Amino acid sequence: MPSKSAASSFPAVKISRRGAKRLQEGHVWVYRSDIASANRVAPGAAVCVTDERGKFLGTAFYSSASQIAIRMISPRAVADLPGLLRERIAAAISYRERVVRDTDAYRVIFSEADFLPGLIVDRYNDLLSLQILTQAMDTEPIRQVIVSELSQRLKPASITERVDPRIRELEQLPARPSGLIQGEGNSTIFTMNGVRFHYEGLEGQKTGAFLDQRENYAAAARHAHGEALDVFCYQGGFALHLAQSCSKVTAVDSSRPALEVADRNAALNNREIEWVEANAFDFLRDYADAGRRYDTIVLDPPAFAKSKSSLETAVRGYKELNLRALKMLRPGGILVTCCCSYHVSPAQYLDVVRDSARDVHRNLRLVENRTQAKDHPILLNIPETGYLKCLISYVTN
Ligand code: SAH
Repeated sequence: MPSKSAASSFPAVKISRRGAKRLQEGHVWVYRSDIASANRVAPGAAVCVTDERGKFLGTAFYSSASQIAIRMISPRAVADLPGLLRERIAAAISYRERVVRDTDAYRVIFSEADFLPGLIVDRYNDLLSLQILTQAMDTEPIRQVIVSELSQRLKPASITERVDPRIRELEQLPARPSGLIQGEGNSTIFTMNGVRFHYEGLEGQKTGAFLDQRENYAAAARHAHGEALDVFCYQGGFALHLAQSCSKVTAVDSSRPALEVADRNAALNNREIEWVEANAFDFLRDYADAGRRYDTIVLDPPAFAKSKSSLETAVRGYKELNLRALKMLRPGGILVTCCCSYHVSPAQYLDVVRDSARDVHRNLRLVENRTQAKDHPILLNIPETGYLKCLISYVTN
């Protein structure tokens, strides 16, 4: 059992009344501006959080660099930190055993949403890919716990660390290359919903696959028909699923390396897909002007709103895409439209799609109002964990 004395073995961080209120409301972050004192606290230390009067509020990881200075790991005192981390990893794995179906690729650990702030682990068949986002998760003892627990429980052929240099800079962590941290081999083939994909742990684009769309791929394929267009196709996630139910699939992306993998993925599945390297906005305009029409269109752009301040421009971008797609859909067509910007709320995105349809005099029947796959859990007390919108509608006129 956690004991009070154990709590005091961690250095104390005092937070303001506003910070304490945020924690009481259920969030797990405290911003730097709400730190009242953090004397002699090492970067990445586990800390004991108190309010200004010294009342104990819980145990957290501290960052000396990030604007998010405190990420809570428990409302209680923690006597055995490695033990707690091992328990959390085990719980994350057993949650996936319950909710993940029809795939050997999924997110095993999703940071705050799995009570392991700063850690992301994805599984691609027998490979694990790990991302460390905070000072605390980067400390050697914690790295060792993570790697040993993941190896014991999942027995991967290898574990690769993917480093985002920008995040290490923000956290004031020394530069470090991406690379294998355990085992051998960093390429594999994974399968989701019966569709096969190449995966290169270190080569190609940094991001890996978009596992959060896995359930939406299957949903899109259930509704899709006729001639289909996948806009922002990356390595062909939607396109290859659409090919299961459509007579012809065209897919567009501006990244040549992504399209090269997409083409290899098509060959792996014995599918013919027309890959087009183009700016999506230009492509949609040119094809619409040329009178091209489709029965199914998927829009899955990158996040246009990276912060609150870019919201207005982002909404304009989303609207333009939806307008152009709607103009090109035949009556009875299917629109699958996605938005992965956290800053655009589900209600705002519905407004974007509704306004676009009204502007081009199309009626939409919303048949699926979807979000990210269940291996990317959404914690209601941490709104930032829910970010993906995926609306599937029928054009009725
Ligand atoms: N639908 C994909 C994920 C898309 S991610 C999947 O399910 O796997 C966003 C993609 O948009 C990236 O592949 C990126 O290369 C591409 N992209 C970004 N800006 C673009 C633009 N202006 N025109 C075309 N593609 C673009």
